[in-house]
Amino acid sequence: MVPGATLHGLGVSPGVAVAPVAQLGEAIAEPAAADEVPEDRREAEAARLAPAVAEVVAALRADAARSEGETAQILEATALLAADPDFAAGAAARVRAEGVSAARAVWDEAEAQARLLRDLGGRMAERVADVRSVRDRLVARLTGADVPGIPDRAEPFVLVARDLAPAETAALGRSRCVALVTEEGGPTSHTAILARALGIPAVVGAAGATAIPAETVVLVDGESGTVQLDPPERQRAATSEDPPEFDGRGQLADGTPVTLRANVGGAVDAHAAAAARAQGIGLFRTEFCFLDRAAEPTVPEQVAAYRGVLAPFAGRTVVVRTLDAGSDKPLPFATGADEENPALGVRGLRVARTHPALLSHQLTAIADAAAQEGAEVEVMAPMVATVDEARDFVAACRAAGIARAGIMIETPAAALLSAEMLAVVDFVSLGTNDLTQYTMAADRLSAPLGALNDPWQPAVLRLIGTVGAAGRARGKPVGVCGEAGGDPAIAPVLVGLGVTSLSMTARSLARVAARLRTVTADECRRAAEAALGAPTAVEARAAAAAVLG
Ligand code: PEP
Ligand code: MG
Repeated sequence: MVPGATLHGLGVSPGVAVAPVAQLGEAIAEPAAADEVPEDRREAEAARLAPAVAEVVAALRADAARSEGETAQILEATALLAADPDFAAGAAARVRAEGVSAARAVWDEAEAQARLLRDLGGRMAERVADVRSVRDRLVARLTGADVPGIPDRAEPFVLVARDLAPAETAALGRSRCVALVTEEGGPTSHTAILARALGIPAVVGAAGATAIPAETVVLVDGESGTVQLDPPERQRAATSEDPPEFDGRGQLADGTPVTLRANVGGAVDAHAAAAARAQGIGLFRTEFCFLDRAAEPTVPEQVAAYRGVLAPFAGRTVVVRTLDAGSDKPLPFATGADEENPALGVRGLRVARTHPALLSHQLTAIADAAAQEGAEVEVMAPMVATVDEARDFVAACRAAGIARAGIMIETPAAALLSAEMLAVVDFVSLGTNDLTQYTMAADRLSAPLGALNDPWQPAVLRLIGTVGAAGRARGKPVGVCGEAGGDPAIAPVLVGLGVTSLSMTARSLARVAARLRTVTADECRRAAEAALGAPTAVEARAAAAAVLG
């Protein structure tokens, strides 16, 4: 690639960062079983194991020493697993008895251990991922391959990948990654959402990114969606400007209140949201607490996770969403691996059809956590399509002792039936990410379809308008918790369409609040009408801008 060349993608998380590239390590290939080691070379092959184990253990301990808190503990525990003498002895015995390579012996020994742990179930089963992580590190040492997953580096780096699995994205927060570039993924993919939550610039859909040689210095601009290779020195000094502060009161220029809340995935986000003066939590994505779990978390484990989010919001509203498993957020204990079309499959509330106990356990845990903390807890279900689903969900919440129950509007069916939905629920919240993908029939993860996944698409705006009108008619709250809620450009239009609260990553609060302070309720309504009348997304945006200036 030419120095100074620029790759173009979609900017999905603002900010500018400059650092050397580290590519996401590809999954380790299973070592061949067929190549037999001759008898007279087996001892030498088995002897390769001890130094590889020692190197892996040392690397893990060094990482642990550089880390803090939970991360350090996890790395220490993984180092202990790698240092287990029974593991190395078992692998060496396989080399001697079966004549397999050291790498293959490690693979087979790890699989045998993983099977054992899986059969034991519960907490033990969750160690399977740790065993495989040690396996991959060892096989990488023995075969000279790159260690898979997020690179362990002491210096800042830009992570480049084809795309990231949710668990990998979650691990990003513990790394020195300062920006993210992927070849695939769309603007509302969870990679994009997490990048925004971490506050690092991100560009998705950057064709050719995985061909950038490791260590090339790149300048990532998460606003314009560009990735510049080997930028000139003066540009390397580029920094992102700090947003203004949010004073904790969302309102329009004429004083009309618009509640501004935060989207969170766990306690760390919740503390950041409280520090950013969010007026509550508008979306707690509970599945983010359990992405790496093989088995259903127990009710006490769930209570502990939920309390961590409720605690900083005593006296304020926290909208807890029940598990949104499935599609691009598979949870092994909730979803099948073999769905052909998982975005249209058993996801969100639909999981209650196949695993009803998951929902009842979760509602019990949420009610318990709410009883122990002072937050005003509301609960909502994702991926609702029928009024019966909404009614059953509300009944299940009431039975668990939860006073306020609502649903997300993420399907065109739910939007079209919003008047009937609002007759049975206490509130609704527009999941504009999914509502857009299902309205436009365009996978939200697809980079080439990024332009279709745009909430300015008139078909999407009209559905939002239907929901807003139903909310006004019933006098019930209508929120937005999809990514559109954190976009200062569309926020006035959403308010004009009848939306009463917006929820977003805490980092967007200040910009959205500042924009809303510049417009009146009447201007918002006129901008919404102008956008609704436009035939295309580009014209809708322009029509609103013409009203709002
Ligand atoms: C949405 O779909 O807009 C939403 C907020 O839910 P998620 O992004 O978690 O699917
Ligand atoms: Mg959704």
